Amino acid sequence: MVSEQKIADVSFESLLRIFTIPEGPDSTLTQIEDSLSKNLNQFLREHIVAEEKPLHEIEKDFSNAAIPEQPEFVSDHTEHLLESLVSHSVHTSSPSFIGHMTSALPYFLMPLSKIMIALNQNLVKIETSKAFTPLERQVLGMLHKLIYSQNDTFYSQWMHSANHSLGAFCSGGTIANITALWVARNNALRAEGEFKGVEKEGLFRAMKHYGYEGLAVLVSERGHYSLKKAADVLGIGQQGLVAVKTDHNNRICPADLKLKFAELKQRKIKPFAVIGVAGTTETGNVDPLKEIAAICAQQSCHFHVDAAWGGATLMSSKYRHLLDGVELADSVTIDAHKQLYIPMGAGMVLFKNPDAMKSIEHHAQYILRKGSKDLGSHTLEGSRSGMAMLVYAAMHIISRPGYELLINQSIEKARYFADLISQQVDFELVSQPELCLLTYRYVPENVQAALKQASATQLDELHELLNELTKIIQKKQRETGLSFVSRTQLNPIRWAQRDTIVFRVVLANPLTTKEVLSSVLDEQRNIAKSVPDLMTRLEKVASQVLNQ
Ligand SMILES: *Cc1c(COP(=O)(O)O)cnc(C)c1O
Repeated sequence: MVSEQKIADVSFESLLRIFTIPEGPDSTLTQIEDSLSKNLNQFLREHIVAEEKPLHEIEKDFSNAAIPEQPEFVSDHTEHLLESLVSHSVHTSSPSFIGHMTSALPYFLMPLSKIMIALNQNLVKIETSKAFTPLERQVLGMLHKLIYSQNDTFYSQWMHSANHSLGAFCSGGTIANITALWVARNNALRAEGEFKGVEKEGLFRAMKHYGYEGLAVLVSERGHYSLKKAADVLGIGQQGLVAVKTDHNNRICPADLKLKFAELKQRKIKPFAVIGVAGTTETGNVDPLKEIAAICAQQSCHFHVDAAWGGATLMSSKYRHLLDGVELADSVTIDAHKQLYIPMGAGMVLFKNPDAMKSIEHHAQYILRKGSKDLGSHTLEGSRSGMAMLVYAAMHIISRPGYELLINQSIEKARYFADLISQQVDFELVSQPELCLLTYRYVPENVQAALKQASATQLDELHELLNELTKIIQKKQRETGLSFVSRTQLNPIRWAQRDTIVFRVVLANPLTTKEVLSSVLDEQRNIAKSVPDLMTRLEKVASQVLNQ
């Protein structure tokens, strides 16, 4: 048999074939496509998280650095992918996979995404993206209107204007945040008199011209790590990102923000942006946006809102008030690949003022000519895919009220889960959900009683053991593969800011049921019982505390 097997050959003829549209429903490629869809769906039905093969084992499948000299048939290679890649992938759309911000996708996006790949438009310039460019501008207009609610005249004037831009579509929240801060920095260090602007003369001359000793961006302690990258690439250094204190609900303290402004002024450091977070990555809390906006207005400082995760809440008439004040921001980041249920690679930054992005405008001779509608003149990225098409499609197919239902069910499910956790004698809710994210941990009943009476050293000891327990439970739960929650470290005021490891849950998948949530808790409880050593040590300290 083996000897009769056909072997793929290297010939220009077969290469021409792979660039030709496959004929008819019986063509090999069409068959592969069909079986691949079936196989993928099968995989998604049967697997929750990867069957546990240790990472170093998986690495062996990907260890050869040589580019193959022998071509493979597509059918053979597909088998290979299913075996070594798909079967060890993580099932992000499983209803019991409730640990991440990127989750389930609506299935209509899979066939539709083929249009995007097939057309392969390059959004950097209109020559290679006719129709996709106006579509992307419309998508940016939709998100702009969702945030800023300007009237129709505004959008008919600016949405398709060659010399203006309502925002930028990019690969994600990181690039969106960098873009917002880039615009803010360049506007703060703009051309003046002899000085030609920071974009021409660089930071060193800009600082000399303006007489600053440094630059800063102010953000809550709970700001996303992408902001550190932004500070680094924008030349202000990670130390230029100044952390503002947060309250017991993980929200920025406006009083401390004012204090930080005063301190920086004394040191001749120019804060060129303040960032409010609308949905922190770790706890899902929203900063007091109105109050921050008022302080920024007073200080004439750019106000950016990082709503990468929480921004989609604006789709809900019932809950959009949770983001009150977002409309006062100069710029807003929203990731469509989080709560708008779009595949990865769909970030956006929107600017209130259609002129704001002028400060980062770039032109070149062969593309991005002045006055052209090329999107590339206002984006950090160059060549870009037509991802905006998927946002466009989802907006039409799901519609605003459809998204509202998705957002509402997420928030209400998180509240339900928080109540469920609070009712358990052996779980502790650590952060209440404001949107659809909450944190908690497993704490046996008598340990909870002990925590109330323990001395500072005993508290340290108990927390250390509980942290270890939380880590073990989370890891074992992930490895067992039935369900997945993530974990993070918080410093709750309730526990005198001790390092506290917690489970973190994001309830975005509409298929996650109440039964799934109960079983996640049951599973965690059972795992705890399966680590008797640690449980015994905890019990011992707890009874010492309770019997003293
Ligand atoms: C996810 C997230 C980001 C980063 O977005 P990416 O799409 O991962 O680049 C930034 N800020 C917040 C608040 C986020 O939740």
